[in-house]
This record gives sequence, C-alpha cells and structure tokens, in this order.
Amino acid sequence: MRNYYFLAICLLLINCKNEIREKSKILSQETIIADGHVDLPYRLYQEGLINNNHIDLNYNTNGNFDIPKAKEGGLNSPFMSIYIPSEKTFSEGFDLANSLIDLVENVVKSNKDYLELALTPDDVINNFNNGKISLPMGMENGSPIGEKLDNIKFFFDRGIRYITLTHAKNNQICDSSYDTDRKWNGLSEFGHDLVKEMNKVGVMIDISHVSDKAFYDIIKIAKKPLIASHSSPRKFTPNFERNMSDDMIVELAKNNGVILINFGSTFVNKNSNIAFAEIDNEVEKWRIDNNYDIDDKLVAERREILINEKKPFASIDDVLDAIDHVNNLVGDNHIGFGSDFDGLGNSLPNNLKDVSKYPKIIEGLLNRGYSKESIEKICYKNFFRVWNANLKTNN
Ligand SMILES: [Zn+2]
Repeated sequence: MRNYYFLAICLLLINCKNEIREKSKILSQETIIADGHVDLPYRLYQEGLINNNHIDLNYNTNGNFDIPKAKEGGLNSPFMSIYIPSEKTFSEGFDLANSLIDLVENVVKSNKDYLELALTPDDVINNFNNGKISLPMGMENGSPIGEKLDNIKFFFDRGIRYITLTHAKNNQICDSSYDTDRKWNGLSEFGHDLVKEMNKVGVMIDISHVSDKAFYDIIKIAKKPLIASHSSPRKFTPNFERNMSDDMIVELAKNNGVILINFGSTFVNKNSNIAFAEIDNEVEKWRIDNNYDIDDKLVAERREILINEKKPFASIDDVLDAIDHVNNLVGDNHIGFGSDFDGLGNSLPNNLKDVSKYPKIIEGLLNRGYSKESIEKICYKNFFRVWNANLKTNN
C-alpha cells in the first residue's frame, strides 16, 4: 500500500512538472519576449555577409539567433547590437555603425515575411500582432558619436534607440569597467553634455560596460530612466565590475530603470567567471610562448579546446538566481532579458545556448512561483516602460 502512495505522488509530481513545461511554452508564444542585446549584426559581419544583397535567416544557422530558433523560443523583439570595437577610430566607427545599420535593414528586407524594423514599443506590438519578429537597434559603444552631439539625432533618425556609452576601453564619453586606466574618473565633460542630449533626443542611455564611477556620474544627471542592456548582479561574480553592485541596482530602480540580465556563464556564476579568466590567461601565455598573432585562428582554436576540456559552464538556475536576486532587492519592475546571444562565443550556460530557450527560463520562473503578471513584466513590460519614457522627451 505504501508503494502505491509513493507511486501516486511521483506521478502527480511528473504531471505537475509537465503541466508547467506546457504552460511555459504557451506563455512564451502568447507574451511578447524582448531582449536588450543580441549580437547578430556583428556575427554576420564577421561571417563576411556585410555586402551580401540577400541574407537568408529562415533556416537553422550555426548562430544563436535565426528565425526558426526565435519562433521556437517565442522571441519577438531582440535589440540588434550595432557593436563598434574599441580600437576603431571615430571615422572608422562612424562608417562601421552605418554599415551595420544597413546590414540590419538588409536582413529585414531579405526576410520580410518574418522580420520588421521597430522604432517604438508600439511598433513591436503591431509587428507581434502581425506575426512578425521586430529588430530594433541599439549601438554598443558611443565612439561613433565623436565629439558631435548632432550625431545623436543622426543615429536616432537611423533607428538607434539606445547607446551603450562605452565598451572595453575608455572613450571620449566615459571610463570603461574593463579598462584599468581611468582617464576621466567617470564621465568626461563631453559625456555630461551627451547624457543631456540623449535624454533630449530620446535615445536610451545604456550603462552596461561603464565604470562604477561613470554610472554614478550618469545617474546623478539623467532625467530619464536608464537601462543596463546586458549586465547581471555582481553578487554572484565578486570584483567583476562589468556587473552591477547591489547599490547600483537600488539606484537604478530609484531612477525607474531596468537591468536586462546577461545570460553569459561568466556573468552569472563565480566559478565560471574564474574558470574562463584562467582559460584566457592560459591561452594568452600559450600565444606568447608560441609567437602567435592575437587574431590567429589557432589562438581561438586553443581557447575552444580548453573550454571543451574544462566545460566551465553555468546553468539556467544561475540565470534564475540572478533574476531572483534583483527581484528580492528591488521588486519585479526593474528586470528584463539582455542575453548577449551571438556575442558570447562558447560561454553560454548549459541548456541555454540559443534563442529557442526562453521557455526554459519562463519554466524556471513558474517553478519558482513567479506569477504570469510578473513574468510579463520581465519579458517585456519593464523594458518597454523605460523605452516609452525615453521617447516621451520628443513630445
Ligand atoms: Zn557587451
């Protein structure tokens, strides 16, 4: 008899688990899923497709994003990162930004039955209702602005809706969290003017990548809510300045902003963060010992070999822990997704390797007791609130 009860409880639990899995699949299709940071444009650029007239994405590619995977995952509004490497000069960066925007427009044209551009949250909602995936754009690195504030309006008119103020190195705007040299001790004088101008024009200010001091300088003068387009809580990766400290998350919430959680293993798990840093150091030592160029294919291959050997990947639970932490700290009005898909190489968590996996996150949130309302906020409503608030400056 006891065995019978045990079996019955097991069956009930399995049933319940299956039910939640089904519910998460339905929810991911019925609700809009927005993502603050997907590096598809630069991936296509690296694949040499920048001048191709036709870029078909309606097949299962090797990348993290394509149309079949997006459909499976219920992804509706991935922000396309117009990524400008730190080494580019102003004019190189300006030209590259324009080429990458052209590329996104071309991707949309090439897949016009499935994809559409979007300049506002309402555009995304309309496209969603028409069964189309939106590709809004954000620029990662403000270097293409140069020292000309007019370029903010120029890029706004080209469709850019956020600018990540800097990337791996300090630029004319502010210091980077990755740069040991703190040229400005935060925001430069030009950066002050730029923040005000971005608020005026209606371009969201993205504080991912900036130094802590730059963040506090920006939030002091910002008149509109900020975004962190692809950052996670520093709690799980101590000393990793690229992520946000609890105090910064609290300040961001007071500003009514949103942190869009970066899914990368090194962003959500301390051991992964350390292990990948060790791999990078090992590869660098090997490169120098063997006299290879930094861009040499063999260097990338060496890195892949070590990653595959050590498998230092985080799990979906780590991503859920990051979401939980922000929720416990400031509530559910300030969280979203900023996966960094197509920008992380081989460092995504297990079972979260591409855009088809959002239902897994929703399933995890349901298992952790999040309501449908909360999940909708995390999937898009929080991010769209901030986007709309920034656009309002134009009226
Ligand atoms: Zn980035």
